[in-house]
Amino acid sequence: MRALQLVGDKDLKIVDLPEPEAPAPGEARVRIATVALNHIDVWGWRGMAFAKRKMPLVIGAEASGTVEAIGPGVSQVLPGQLVSIYGARTCGLCKACREGRDNLCEHVSGVHGFHLDGFAQEYVNLPARLLVPAPPGCDGVGAALAPVTFGTVEHMLFDNAKLQPGETILVHAGGSGIGSVAIQLAKAHGCTVITTVGSDDKIEKAKALGADHVINYRTDRFEGVTRKITKKKGVDVVFEHVGKDTFAGSMLCMKRGGRLVTCGSTSGVSTDVNLMMLFQQQLKLMGSFGCRMENMADAMQKIARGIARPVIDTEVTMDEIEVALKRMEGRQVFGKVILKMSEA
Ligand SMILES: [Zn+2]
Repeated sequence: MRALQLVGDKDLKIVDLPEPEAPAPGEARVRIATVALNHIDVWGWRGMAFAKRKMPLVIGAEASGTVEAIGPGVSQVLPGQLVSIYGARTCGLCKACREGRDNLCEHVSGVHGFHLDGFAQEYVNLPARLLVPAPPGCDGVGAALAPVTFGTVEHMLFDNAKLQPGETILVHAGGSGIGSVAIQLAKAHGCTVITTVGSDDKIEKAKALGADHVINYRTDRFEGVTRKITKKKGVDVVFEHVGKDTFAGSMLCMKRGGRLVTCGSTSGVSTDVNLMMLFQQQLKLMGSFGCRMENMADAMQKIARGIARPVIDTEVTMDEIEVALKRMEGRQVFGKVILKMSEA
């Protein structure tokens, strides 16, 4: 079977790998149809340079596919079902896993596409409990985006930041995969949404997703504009994932008692935090990573009901991967780059 393997930095190759055996007890065999690409697939964890990657490595951290066969004892999924795939290999036995909070697993053996081979291969065998069936109305692209792009945002906004209707939120990088989802989910929740973009041509696209205010961070200081928009009060919630370049400014954007939730550090992992501001303003800083199983199901329901839609920049086949990489490298992307593995 064909697979897309990272053999060195920015060096992806199409390779031929043996197909997996028949699924073992508790496992299902999935025919991968759709993979959504992330920066991790191309460059590794940018801003997480301390982590060395295993190479060669099949890429693909988020994907969906069709169940082809199930092993003995599997009842969660049926052959023929479209499923979304949880991105980490969690134990299923610890307290966190039993409560459906797999992203807090005490014995996680790795993240697919990073520590473990990912999903850019035609077939994969996986524990059936890590597969979430897609509801009617959610297609393969929606299911592929449920674990990382939508699930991460669901977990950040609603589990961690506990975003409330009527609140104001600043979403960094509204043109990114997670930014485009955060704008939509926050708007659908009844919030006022301020977002940043890196070029003027992305302003209208961000507004079309529901952003009330869009700031070009290359021409304006986002913290100044945000304070102006909120009449110097600041926002209730900041949605962070940029890191070093924006963190100090994000601290200045919050109102007293405001919450900052972050899931990334693409511009750098370390930053100074003004501790006096932290306690005097009673700010809450929260880290978020991955999602709960239920976040994936919730995300797919929202996609099925048209509450939020996947924002797709480009769709490519494995043979056209260079096109996708060039777009991602040039930062022209608005939304996600999708890799179609098969027509299923
Ligand atoms: Zn566990």
